[in-house]
Amino acid sequence: MLSISEIKSLLATPQKIVITTHHKPDGDAMGSSLGLYAYLIQLGHHVKVITPTDYPYFLHWLPNNSDVIIYTEQPEQSAALVAEAAMIFCLDFNSLVRINELGELVRASGAYKLMIDHHLEPEDFDDYRHWSINACAAAQLVYDFIVNELGDGAKMNKDIAACLYTGIMTDSGNFRFPSATSEVYRIAADLIDLGAEHWRIHQLVYDNATENRLRFLGHCISNKLEILREFNTAIISVTKEELKQYNIVTGDTEGIVNYALSVNGIRLAAFIIERTDKVKLSLRSTGDFPANEICKKYFNGGGHRNAAGGFSDKNLEDTIEQFKSVLIEYKTQLLQ
Ligand code: 5GP
Ligand code: MN
Repeated sequence: MLSISEIKSLLATPQKIVITTHHKPDGDAMGSSLGLYAYLIQLGHHVKVITPTDYPYFLHWLPNNSDVIIYTEQPEQSAALVAEAAMIFCLDFNSLVRINELGELVRASGAYKLMIDHHLEPEDFDDYRHWSINACAAAQLVYDFIVNELGDGAKMNKDIAACLYTGIMTDSGNFRFPSATSEVYRIAADLIDLGAEHWRIHQLVYDNATENRLRFLGHCISNKLEILREFNTAIISVTKEELKQYNIVTGDTEGIVNYALSVNGIRLAAFIIERTDKVKLSLRSTGDFPANEICKKYFNGGGHRNAAGGFSDKNLEDTIEQFKSVLIEYKTQLLQ
């Protein structure tokens, strides 16, 4: 394992650095990655952010977004950058399967691998780890890494602040989850002092939907919401055809699961979506109900206690049936 002083001495001279983050990056994945990017380029390093896949349009305004390389669009260039890197920062994930084909390239690279993450049960592929499941976002840990671990708070600027604020805002559910501690609010206040325009960031992320997305949301709520009172659970499921009918693109389905959770008495909400290659599940829960346990045990996934995801190779109908049968095992906890 690298010590922080070894990292400081590595960062004292220009390095080839890759920053990568998880499949279908969300606000925290992109915010933490581009936040760290904005810091490292200031130090004169050659840095590239490589994402395994595309990501929502409402994140494309992030500072330096145009410098991001998407692996699926530029696989050869991505592979060369990973192979040549001296350091690879792995942000907002802790298991190499979460970055698809990039995972094996990262594993094979001779670069130092530095994990900054807040998910349970990290895999052992890293040379340095700044990890805490108590952090509300990887962006919070990037803040802590720069300001407290590297002691380089003087280098924080408006771009870094905007990116890290975005990560913290989105992963804390708008500062509403229990993970949004007073410390998180203090960090957010500092980021605002550094120039993050919180009102503008909120607007760019949340009030940026297409008309299609809003009509699709209406369809999901009116026609596709199933409430299982006997399990305090709500399910919204959508087919490939519905996605096509509403012209749904990456990012359009984000947050829909929260509407299912907003019904009174609901402790577990599932958004189950039929993608071209597999069926994806997004779960949200309240209190101490372990949504991540269900994803890990039954749906090849994981995540946090109250926000987790996974996938199934079964068809949509069978996946919904399987999910419902899993609820029986959790009935007592769901009715608590
Ligand atoms: P979402 O429902 O927004 O896709 O994901 C919520 C959280 O669940 C993510 O922040 C991530 O921690 C976790 N998650 C989602 N999909 C997967 C998956 O396929 N595998 C694992 N391990 N975690 C996932
Ligand atoms: Mn995160």
